[in-house]
Amino acid sequence: MKIGFIGLGIMGKPMVKNLLGAGHEVCAYDIVKDSVDDVVAAGAVAAASIADVARGCKLVITMLPNGPEVKEVVLGGLLGSMAQGSIIVDMSSIAPGVAQEIHAACAAKGIAMLDAPVSGGEPKAIDGTLSIMVGGDGAIFDEVKDVLGAMGASVVHCGDIGAGNTTKLANQIIVALNIAAVSEAFMLSTRAGVDPARVFDAIKGGLAGSTVMNAKVPMILDGNFNPGFKLDLHIKDLANALDTGHAVDSPLLFTTAVMEVMKKLRDEGMGQNDHSVIATYYEKLTGTNIRAGV
Ligand code: NAD
Repeated sequence: MKIGFIGLGIMGKPMVKNLLGAGHEVCAYDIVKDSVDDVVAAGAVAAASIADVARGCKLVITMLPNGPEVKEVVLGGLLGSMAQGSIIVDMSSIAPGVAQEIHAACAAKGIAMLDAPVSGGEPKAIDGTLSIMVGGDGAIFDEVKDVLGAMGASVVHCGDIGAGNTTKLANQIIVALNIAAVSEAFMLSTRAGVDPARVFDAIKGGLAGSTVMNAKVPMILDGNFNPGFKLDLHIKDLANALDTGHAVDSPLLFTTAVMEVMKKLRDEGMGQNDHSVIATYYEKLTGTNIRAGV
């Protein structure tokens, strides 16, 4: 199938490569030309514009930073040129309410839309083993499920439009709190004089072990905060979670606390670092470097 793909960042590039690997033809677009060149070298076709993608493809996937960019690309671009009966799958992480708004504008033009954000980060985007959580019409989900399967190990239909992003917000709360818990716990062990690498070895297979711990503790111990998943993007996700929590009257006590930590780090210029940089907040509080010990 010929697939349009817009948004070739940390996640979009490897996702396109997995679509190509599964035998799909991909017509790719990004405002950054180097990113387009990267996927063209892997076999994709470069699109000259968003309208070019829209005209050539019945299925278009978007993988953009947040709601405003998705609105700009879909409402201000794709909808002007896509044929009736086409399908847009937005795989960006955006607010559920914005996904519903974009879906309504698509429906008015006879175009179907699903929200299908992902979890797993760059390593799983590269391996094609993302967890993909989908909201929208069940028949459209059935049509695109195999295409999504080329990028993910699991593709789950979570409910109506917006349900994919609601699921993603739950995921992002758990990841943020887990990184904060890991940071707090590893600082405690370091301050108490126990080698954090041994703590990791001892507990990673037990109840506290997690995908987050396995991915982030080695980064914290190496002092390597290259993204990965940028702190700025996680702040965006928690802002969407807090807005949604207020809208549905669901208390987000610990999410609020971690958000304050993240914003402080962003204000100190760390927004482009991996979100595991949360650990450095504890390092500043204590004057202790987790990786180097007390
Ligand atoms: P990124 O910033 O690396 O990539 C975004 C891409 O969108 C960039 O290449 C940018 O040039 C492009 N873009 C922005 N505006 C555009 C426009 N108007 N037209 C065309 N292209 C445009 O971000 P990413 O890390 O790839 O994340 C993308 C989405 O996936 C975000 O919503 C993020 O929250 C989510 N996500 C990221 C990760 C991760 O680990 N990086 C994991 C899960 C989900």
